[in-house]
Amino acid sequence: MTSAGAAFRISASAASEERANTTETPSGFAVALIFDVNIRSSTTARIMVGYHSAMLLESQASGPFMKNGFIVSCERTREAVYIDPGDEVRGLLSFVETNALTVRHILLTHAHVDHVTGVAAAKRALGVPVHLHRDDLFLYERAVETGALFGLRVEPQPPIDSYYTPGEVIAFGDYEVRPHHTPGHCPGGVCLQIGKQREEGRDLFVGDTLFAGSIGRTDLPGGDYQTLVASIRTVLFAFGDDAIVHPGHGPDTTIGRERQTNPFLTAT
Ligand SMILES: [Zn+2]
Ligand SMILES: [Zn+2]
Repeated sequence: MTSAGAAFRISASAASEERANTTETPSGFAVALIFDVNIRSSTTARIMVGYHSAMLLESQASGPFMKNGFIVSCERTREAVYIDPGDEVRGLLSFVETNALTVRHILLTHAHVDHVTGVAAAKRALGVPVHLHRDDLFLYERAVETGALFGLRVEPQPPIDSYYTPGEVIAFGDYEVRPHHTPGHCPGGVCLQIGKQREEGRDLFVGDTLFAGSIGRTDLPGGDYQTLVASIRTVLFAFGDDAIVHPGHGPDTTIGRERQTNPFLTAT
């Protein structure tokens, strides 16, 4: 059994709950399906704003990919990071300006095209380093041609400034980011663990490794199903059931909820 087929059915039921307020777009649906199993079929921008613990968290997603971009900000210093700039980049840069935030880093969970289409615009506006796992560089360098396969114009992206290293800590304000390598969806996927300095971060930005009720597809270049499941079980589950998961598509969830109910992870 491939993961993509079963996961799509699960995702489709999740998406149907939200269709009352969205507009069906078959082409957008196809693009999202091709890329990440998932989930959304709308070109309507989606915005979540919340104070999470104390940190300020803003998420937006735009069509056709409906990929979540995140601004995570320290409530005291208003320093921030921008995770996965994509097609929502104008909206999140506007949020940064409106709230007088100072973004210190652009952090990529992985380099599939839907997660990097806004990197150039974010870099121009913010002038801060772009971070990626080295094993996804080959995907990052293909963003323009991959976009063209879908009839999308993707502008060339700037060079990567820094590659994640084991044990690395990336600071912003009173917070820190710890990248954890989670290959499987692609070779250089990471989980970005964020929390207050000297505390165990409880917010996990997992890219397309794990979704609410599904997992990332593994049939794209460099993907591997067993590797993905091992990354989830050994790296993500180790954060404990109360850790909050912010996937690259769709709604937030928790490690506990996915450990107990995700059909890809409950089987022995
Ligand atoms: Zn994605
Ligand atoms: Zn992906």
